Amino acid sequence: MYDRPPPDRHVPGTGRDPQLGLADRAGIEHALARMLERGPATALVLLPTRFHELLAAIGRSRSDALLQALAARLSHAAGPDAVVGRIAPACFAVAIPDAPDDVERVERLIATLDAPLIVDGVPYPVRAAAGSAVGPLDGDDAGQLLDRAEIALHSADGPHRRYHEGFERAARHRLAVLSDLERALASGQLRLHFQPIIDIGTGAVDCVEALVRWDHPVHGAMPPGMFIPLAEQTELIGPLTEHVLGLALDHCVAWREDGLPLTVAVNLSARNVVDPALAGRVGEMLLVRGLDGSALKLEITESVLMERQQVAFTTLEALRGLGIKLALDDFGTGYSSLAYLQDLPIDEVKIDRSFVRLLGTSERSAAVLRAIVTLADDLELRTVAEGVEDPATLRLVTTLGCTLAQGFHFARPLSPSGLRMWLTRRAAAQVKLPLTG
Ligand code: C2E
Ligand code: CA
Ligand code: CA
Repeated sequence: MYDRPPPDRHVPGTGRDPQLGLADRAGIEHALARMLERGPATALVLLPTRFHELLAAIGRSRSDALLQALAARLSHAAGPDAVVGRIAPACFAVAIPDAPDDVERVERLIATLDAPLIVDGVPYPVRAAAGSAVGPLDGDDAGQLLDRAEIALHSADGPHRRYHEGFERAARHRLAVLSDLERALASGQLRLHFQPIIDIGTGAVDCVEALVRWDHPVHGAMPPGMFIPLAEQTELIGPLTEHVLGLALDHCVAWREDGLPLTVAVNLSARNVVDPALAGRVGEMLLVRGLDGSALKLEITESVLMERQQVAFTTLEALRGLGIKLALDDFGTGYSSLAYLQDLPIDEVKIDRSFVRLLGTSERSAAVLRAIVTLADDLELRTVAEGVEDPATLRLVTTLGCTLAQGFHFARPLSPSGLRMWLTRRAAAQVKLPLTG
């Protein structure tokens, strides 16, 4: 969440930080311990989150002067009964006595760090992140209290978080899942299911979407919602996506060998799209399998567009250059902007099932869907209705002009053998009419 701090330069264990003249970690712990002997006390940890960008911009010696300015601000705001310290190169801590609910003081201290720093007349924004733990409630040992304030800091999704037992449990759970997942990649615990996407006009299978499944050796079947978002927070999403792509393309080869020229759609995460090496690797993966780009479709979400747009666009263009079709997934959720649609190098818009689900009952959902389809038509993009669960919904999305449909009405995500059976049954029934599913 935050940049890694530069190497520690202050002398720990002496009680004082020689550079800033503040307490160091040992000094803060000592102060907290003494406060706890007398009553409740708060450990507050504060991090100026953009400090390392600033360091990169102005150099170490001048940023040291800024740290000193911050330290002085904090000492002033903390009040005479508190002890201000530095516990890591750009991380402050404040020991506050008798103040378990001193919200005002905590807010004042956070505001102190939040004010921009002026360097050569230019204001540099410094955002504060803070975590706190209150003894003896959250821990009766000074060291533990400080640790827990730091745990709260790193669990923070707002500017300030008070320690909660659940943080440690949640953090440990995340770590365990991630290390299990790393092993799962190596030991073949990940499998793919495939869900057909149907061309509404012809009733033919347009492509199949690969959806990852994890057979966890202890927890059993883990749905992607339980591990993909975690992987997305780390580098692990890179190898995971590559693994899924490899599996999907292997299946594609096998289908072709059996005379089934299916296109497979694979989900990409935002992080994948800003990886400048992605397009090259995908190209190689196709090449070694002797597959054409048209064998693959990639699904991206709008969150891709929020950050590092330029890199994302370059990647998308390169993928399209390989003949790969691109679909914008879950459209209508998130920060949907219709304006994006005209700029994005995509071929298809997948309309999120939250709109599709309500079509029968909500005139508003129908209006949104109609507007998306109209715009997509004008931009010559195909539209996929996601989450079509019944014939009535299929009829509605057909009337509204969607090109393709996906959902339980046709098939749930199927195992590879399940998919083959489904295809065989469908061929035997000679399903041609769009509305008979
Ligand atoms: P998604 O890309 O929107 O995939 C469609 C999800 O909707 C699938 O859930 C599918 O089972 C479900 N679904 C399909 N038709 C219907 C329907 O008619 N009704 C209802 N209620 N649900 C339907 P699943 O397999 O649990 O996947 C959830 C999400 O996890 C996916 O949403 C996708 O965002 C992510 N995901 C799955 N596999 C991968 C992967 O390999 N890589 C990445 N990055 N994400 C993946
Ligand atoms: Ca998808
Ligand atoms: Ca979707």
